Amino acid sequence: MTITEPTTVPTALDRARAALRATLLEDRVLIDLGSPGLYGRTGVFEHVYAAVDTAAVRSMADLQSSVLRFPPVEPLAAFERTDYIASFPDLAASISAFTGDDRAHRALLAARERGERWESFLEPADLMLAPAVCHPVYGLVTGTIPQQGLWFDIVGDSFRREPSLDPMRLQAFHMHEFVHIGTPDSAKEHRDGRIPAMRSLLEGFGLEIDVVPANDPFFGRVGKILARNQVEASLKYEFVTPVYGDAGEATAISSANLHEDHFGTSFSITTADGETAHSACLAFGLERITIALFAAHGTDPASWPADVRRALAL
Ligand code: AMP
Ligand code: ZN
Repeated sequence: MTITEPTTVPTALDRARAALRATLLEDRVLIDLGSPGLYGRTGVFEHVYAAVDTAAVRSMADLQSSVLRFPPVEPLAAFERTDYIASFPDLAASISAFTGDDRAHRALLAARERGERWESFLEPADLMLAPAVCHPVYGLVTGTIPQQGLWFDIVGDSFRREPSLDPMRLQAFHMHEFVHIGTPDSAKEHRDGRIPAMRSLLEGFGLEIDVVPANDPFFGRVGKILARNQVEASLKYEFVTPVYGDAGEATAISSANLHEDHFGTSFSITTADGETAHSACLAFGLERITIALFAAHGTDPASWPADVRRALAL
């Protein structure tokens, strides 16, 4: 009998992920860029992706949110105030840049010539890759907000250092967020009130959806407590779909998240009544929804069920 390391035997889930990844690459939906979870995108991907985003925006049109767009990097000082590094240090990533002189440059080139890694010659540049697109907004609304609260429509790049061969888990992706900053009641209402509409939008795409309490991957030992608190306080819900059927857990393709006073406190945001503001975010994971659609209906949108095509105005 041969004894094999259990970790080297691909599970049914590993096989299902590899099969979806292979299909997306072979059918030229995505292009492998040579780093796990980094892909180029072709026309067919963009076509569906744009349709998903447009449908998501339409479903939130009544909120009349103020549109804001931010770059994919944020100043370290702003990142600092979100406390992200305390909860998810393993997902965070920073920008480095070369600040040396000619001598340092020669040393870098010599290291490169020897086939060595040369990134250690770069210095941290006080910039972080944005892990969530709503972060920059809180710094902009510091102070007292209007009585009725504020609504924002924010879409942009997110980077999370979680390399994976699961095509649902990217390092660089986009989320479209609808953010509300207001009172404890209005923030909760924003999160809860939109859940049925988000669910039916995603179900209208022909996806099987469950809404479940989120269990974010908070880091380390303290993280276990934070994760338990998130579940017990019912702070965040995820819209999950079984991309890999019975082979693995369903994947979150969108979320509805109540931050309570987390950002209100960190960024000194107060309501008209002088209380600390609360906030909530509704996030559509645009690549995840798009890839879930290809997984559910195949890589040729022309052959998708008529009602799905109609829901996406394809
Ligand atoms: P979160 O802030 O973790 O709730 O993320 C918001 C949404 O972004 C999730 O519901 C996912 O749809 C999407 N998302 C999160 N992480 C990833 C990832 N690594 N790759 C692709 N999409 C992601
Ligand atoms: Zn957010």
